[in-house]
Amino acid sequence: MNYDVIVLGGGPAGLAAAVAARGRNKTALVIGNRWQDSPLAKAEKIGNYLGLPALSGYELLEEFHRHAESAGVEFVVGRATSLMTWNGFSVTVGAEVYTGGALILSPGVVRQAKFPGEQEFLGRGVSYCATCDGMLYRGKDVVVVGRTAEAPEEAKYLRSIGCAVTYTAPKRPEGLPEDVPFVPAKQVEICGDGTVTSVRLDGAETPCACVFVLRAALAPTDLLPALETENGYIRVGRDMSTGVEGVFACGDCTGAPLQVAKAVGEGHVAGLSACEYLDKKQA
Ligand SMILES: Cc1cc2nc3c(=O)[nH]c(=O)nc-3n(C[C@H](O)[C@H](O)[C@H](O)COP(=O)(O)OP(=O)(O)OC[C@H]3O[C@@H](n4cnc5c(N)ncnc54)[C@H](O)[C@@H]3O)c2cc1C
Repeated sequence: MNYDVIVLGGGPAGLAAAVAARGRNKTALVIGNRWQDSPLAKAEKIGNYLGLPALSGYELLEEFHRHAESAGVEFVVGRATSLMTWNGFSVTVGAEVYTGGALILSPGVVRQAKFPGEQEFLGRGVSYCATCDGMLYRGKDVVVVGRTAEAPEEAKYLRSIGCAVTYTAPKRPEGLPEDVPFVPAKQVEICGDGTVTSVRLDGAETPCACVFVLRAALAPTDLLPALETENGYIRVGRDMSTGVEGVFACGDCTGAPLQVAKAVGEGHVAGLSACEYLDKKQA
């Protein structure tokens, strides 16, 4: 499935970017978690968005989605777990891969801190993607740290390909098969020596070769390490371009003020800039 523009993140910034791209007659795919679960959807009232002062966060997002759908934007609901830059961009969601000519990042901000050891062992026994990396750990002990509603499904997948799965979360999730060992724990510490050897769950050690950390949001730099950042936010130019060719960013991920109006404005600019980039490439 190939698109002109792929947008990662279906909040106000991503939707505005996709609508702008459709306005230039480009195909646009938005990949995002369920918008109904986003923090904005839980806001009682968004009093400061121009012209629509009476709407709740849920109502505002619903309007934005309706607009994007009527503009012909396509959607995939799910968590993007890996991103490749080669001959355009490829984004993995579950077992599917979506490709595009330009990429717009609008994932908001990651509100959960990383676990101790997570950054150190990333790619050496810490993975964010069961589909991408599961086969590497076939026949081995793996721990799934479940922080999304879909994580039990990913645990089932890992088991189906022959991984010995232990699942951990603060409480047992719905959908986790009874015969998958479950460890209730809030604190996670990833340990190893060059590569991961174990994980401490509320202090108790569980040996494993890989820890799959499954959160709703990933820091954009975990997906694309070449991105330049400043104070934890993606560095962009006035046209919302990042330092990586063909990649644009908008919304909360580029920094303060973390507000809907700024996200929508930046999204619009990012959408237009992505189209201009594609047009120049084709000329
Ligand atoms: C409780 C609350 C109240 C607020 N009130 C106001 C207000 O009154 N006025 C105002 O202007 N602003 C308000 N804000 C701020 C506002 O919500 C943000 O500034 C705005 O939503 C930013 O839009 P965004 O598109 O950049 O990011 P977001 O709205 O955060 O959208 C990003 C989306 O991308 C998804 N995503 C991230 N990573 C991935 C991935 N790997 N795969 C798939 N999807 C992914 C996220 O789950 C999320 O759905 C409030 C925020 C909160 C939490």
